[in-house]
Amino acid sequence: MIVHAEAAGVPAETALGATEPPPSDGAVLRWSRFLAATEAEGPGRRAALWVQGCNVRCPGCFNPHLWAARGALTGDPAELADRWVADAVAAGASGITLLGGEPFDQAAQVAQVAAAFREAGLSVMAFTGYGFEDLCRWAAKRADIADLLAATDLLCDGPYLRARPETRRPWIGSANQGIRALSPVYAAEVREIAAHGRPDTVEVRVSPDGTVSVNGWASDAALSALLDDLGVRADRPQERVA
Ligand code: SF4
Repeated sequence: MIVHAEAAGVPAETALGATEPPPSDGAVLRWSRFLAATEAEGPGRRAALWVQGCNVRCPGCFNPHLWAARGALTGDPAELADRWVADAVAAGASGITLLGGEPFDQAAQVAQVAAAFREAGLSVMAFTGYGFEDLCRWAAKRADIADLLAATDLLCDGPYLRARPETRRPWIGSANQGIRALSPVYAAEVREIAAHGRPDTVEVRVSPDGTVSVNGWASDAALSALLDDLGVRADRPQERVA
């Protein structure tokens, strides 16, 4: 039986990210993973927060286990932000990267986290499957989206289109996606990437119990070659790397 993407709850690629995110009240943050320091999720050494839940649902997404809200860790965003800022500072991070999942599907909660990092003098990078122009249009009537955009220094935007793989710029998966400086913090870096490109970075952590976790970006073929025989991956918990 052929199941069309739309019938399976996955929008056609032309419609990906075109629907306004659901309103968020800022009360409870759904999240999956926090790293106090990584060098594979944006410029320099940074914290990274994977939020849980994504309504964009790009076919071929690297993190489909973060689409559903079900199974998320939950907490008060302000309390979590205080803890994460302290952990990031202790780990020597210069900022945080917000990814997922879809940060703008919980814009009010994620904006609180972003603002806490900004108040501590740290930078904020965010990934989104929504387009920047659409986000600006929605922000005109949505304070939660406006707040998250206002607290973001570097934005990677647009849906992942697996038919258009990115081969030159870092962090993003497909050539349609943007890397935009929303403040002066990374403006020079964004210009440099546009002019000269930059290779991607992937990090692999092996816990004492043998669990393997991966972050950063690499092709599936490169990851499989790298992780051969290392066991179950925390980024795809149901999948045994063959
Ligand atoms: S927006 Fe990001 S997390 Fe959501 S489906 Fe697309 S690539 Fe995956």
